Amino acid sequence: MNEKLIEECISAEGDVPLVVPDNLVMSGYLKNSLPKNKHPEFSTISPNTRKFINRHFPGVSDEQWNSWRWQIKNSYISFSQLNKIIDFRRVIDDQSILDNDKLPLRITPYYASLIEGAGANHPIVKGVVPSIKELYQTPGEASDPLHEENCSPVPNIVHRYPDRVLFLATGFCSTYCRYCTRSHMVAKDKMHYGKAAWQPGLEYIRNNKAVRDVLISGGDPLTMPEAHLEYLLESLRAIPHVEIIRIGTKVPVVLPQRITSSFVNMLRRYHPLFMSIHFMHPLELTPEVHEACTRLANAGIPLGSQTVLLKGINDSVPVMTKLMQGLLRNRVRPYYIYQCDPILGSGHFRTTVKAGLDIIRGMRGYTSGYAIPHFVIDAPGGGGKIPLLPEYALGHEGDNLVLQNYEGKRFYYPDVVDTAD
Ligand code: SF4
Repeated sequence: MNEKLIEECISAEGDVPLVVPDNLVMSGYLKNSLPKNKHPEFSTISPNTRKFINRHFPGVSDEQWNSWRWQIKNSYISFSQLNKIIDFRRVIDDQSILDNDKLPLRITPYYASLIEGAGANHPIVKGVVPSIKELYQTPGEASDPLHEENCSPVPNIVHRYPDRVLFLATGFCSTYCRYCTRSHMVAKDKMHYGKAAWQPGLEYIRNNKAVRDVLISGGDPLTMPEAHLEYLLESLRAIPHVEIIRIGTKVPVVLPQRITSSFVNMLRRYHPLFMSIHFMHPLELTPEVHEACTRLANAGIPLGSQTVLLKGINDSVPVMTKLMQGLLRNRVRPYYIYQCDPILGSGHFRTTVKAGLDIIRGMRGYTSGYAIPHFVIDAPGGGGKIPLLPEYALGHEGDNLVLQNYEGKRFYYPDVVDTAD
């Protein structure tokens, strides 16, 4: 994102331009732009996070901590900053990574409070702290394995399925996941951002009457200034054939303070609006996340989850069951578990496909059907999402379909219809 665009962001609404390079964020560029006397709209601070604040941000008020702008401005973006909260001798797998500035690092103070003092095996540490293994390429990996760039008729748009498009609104996230499918474009300057840059994408949708569903994603669209996201929602809502709008985000998990009442009041003007929230592990289900999800659900926004299956993080039946049951308690419907995409340097995260099938098999029947997500592979090469199911239908014996239930017991269904009038 260039300087001109940053100025456009400021003048557009007198708001903080949040999609700015990390060096500008940390140089104090935003310091004088922070709104003063802002009413503290978000109020939850869990006990462990309170201790973290006292240790690492003494003097910071609840109002500051609960300001999502403060959270972005004070995010951890270097190993030397992170070293204050986790012991690198226990976490870093190779000291040479400390000199590597190619791996984007960004963790909000709130999300960092969940890993204070943690070791290398902590699931959230694995999810957000860079590893030297990201620099090792294994067979089958690619920077854009889903061929999103090949399916992009105009900048910011990916059009893969007949009736829906993906609108990549920004390349910025408040926290960078190590296994990100879009690591080829997030945190990079190549992203087209802003009202002017979005026009070809909006025009493309206006001209394609088959598009009834638009998924706004990125990067993370909930890091954008409110007026910018509203501009996009308003522009899409003005297109008669766009029936539903979806937003893909991890912000309610890593930056729940962003879900202010003014923000949800803005969102509720653009129904039918759906939200897919990216969760990784049950440790993410904190009181803060509960407040964020409650605010969104109370605004009438149906919430669904998406979770990437990750080796050593969530690839077991107990962990995934706990996550999915916890999501339901937070009013989020489990929606997708994704097989990890083969992006460059993802070998240490990827499981076998069987591991995902075993998880679905281990959940089905043992917990509510509402807690069972779809297990899918986003086919490399641009094939789209392909659902996978354990074998429950074993074939026919005569006119009977042989079925196997969750306990492995066999049952027979008469698979014939009466053709008599
Ligand atoms: S929040 Fe989503 S887009 Fe951002 S780094 Fe994580 S996976 Fe990638």
